[in-house]
Amino acid sequence: MIFLIVALVALAFVVLWNFDLHKILFVKLRSQNAGDAAALAAARWQGVTLNLIGRLNVLQAVAVMDTLTRGDGDYSESRLISELQARLCFVGPVVGLSAAQQAAKNNGAFVNSSFTAALNSHAAAVATTYPTRFRIPPWENNPATPTAWDDYAEMLFAVAGNGVAADADNVRRFVDYADSGHPLLNPNFYDAVATGDWCWFYFHAMDLLRDYRNWRDWPPLPVIVMPEPMNSEYFGLHLAKAATLEDVPGLSRAGARELLGELERLSGRALTQEVARVAVDWFIYRPDAWGRWTNYIPEGFPFDGRVKAEYDYLGADAAVRLETRVDRVSPRSSGDDIAWTAAAKPFGFLEGPTTPTRWGLVLPAYREVRLIPVDTSTASAGGSHPGWAEHIYDHLPIYMERGLSGLTPGCWYCEVLRRWENDEFRRLGREWIEQYSAACRRPSGPGGGPGGGTRRGH
Ligand SMILES: [Zn+2]
Repeated sequence: MIFLIVALVALAFVVLWNFDLHKILFVKLRSQNAGDAAALAAARWQGVTLNLIGRLNVLQAVAVMDTLTRGDGDYSESRLISELQARLCFVGPVVGLSAAQQAAKNNGAFVNSSFTAALNSHAAAVATTYPTRFRIPPWENNPATPTAWDDYAEMLFAVAGNGVAADADNVRRFVDYADSGHPLLNPNFYDAVATGDWCWFYFHAMDLLRDYRNWRDWPPLPVIVMPEPMNSEYFGLHLAKAATLEDVPGLSRAGARELLGELERLSGRALTQEVARVAVDWFIYRPDAWGRWTNYIPEGFPFDGRVKAEYDYLGADAAVRLETRVDRVSPRSSGDDIAWTAAAKPFGFLEGPTTPTRWGLVLPAYREVRLIPVDTSTASAGGSHPGWAEHIYDHLPIYMERGLSGLTPGCWYCEVLRRWENDEFRRLGREWIEQYSAACRRPSGPGGGPGGGTRRGH
């Protein structure tokens, strides 16, 4: 009987464990489907928005030509077109964020309360702090309230109100200011201290590690120059404005003529050379964000095949993250956190075929969306912690005046500074580098984190 009882108990454990295993696999598969669907939905909206902005650029050429033909110098139509484009830069991607939630939920994902709370609090920060931090709004409303920032916050509140299941994983907050020229404004410095990544110091800040004595040694903080935001923080399109077609960065005179020819073809109207010289707002690809994709992909990335020349651009992509907690039924085991990240990107080309960015001006070119490996997307390498904006704007000035006693309790970055201030900690670092620095490898690619390798497991 004793044998039977032991066998039965063992069997019960096997059954429960098996149930857990299947449950975890099921949730994993569901997260995967939901995450992929969410990324594709967001990327589709990026493509749609880029095409709309491109079509409005074509329309802009026609409007400018019309004004030139009339000769009355009334460019009010052109202003309306560029204002519409400015709104689309925010509205399109945020609709994508909303569509991503719907796609994730349709595929079985549940609302994640911490994602929802984070979006809600960011929307509140937009409404309360952005009007003073960014004095020039991305567009002007007439009458002036609600402002552009009210509109943007309202859209984010609406998405949060429906519940967030798939969080955007390549968010670029306007307040995420970083300056690699000053360690205190460089997130990598904090990450290196927090993880004891001495190789980072070996490559980037050896003088600092050798000579630092106490907080009085920091060079003065530079003035934080605020960017002039014109792209959505979520799934942004990374566009910029050019005053005239001849001012598009990287475009030669011959290129400008070619571009005019392309605009003629797309609009079906004859355009004179004069159109390229009139100052209106043209929406262009920001050159630093729309470089070559192959330059960004980590070296030796196991791609199955090569990137076609016409698809070799970086720019807009959508990375999402899903996190689910699965509770186990087996006794004495805690739950498991299941995370899934996915990325997708709008693809298209201009006749040729060449990349959509050929002339720098946004033109309708996007035809489809595809999933891409997360490591080839612009998803951040992780390691950014909440509270960065508060830390650099509110905590650092006090720290620079009062030292350790000026640090704010509860702030991750302030805790890191406390650790850094420890003489013993820095001495260990110097000793480590003396002995082992030969083993340090410079991370390859712009996204490579400390320790090399890819940023994620898949
Ligand atoms: Zn702080």
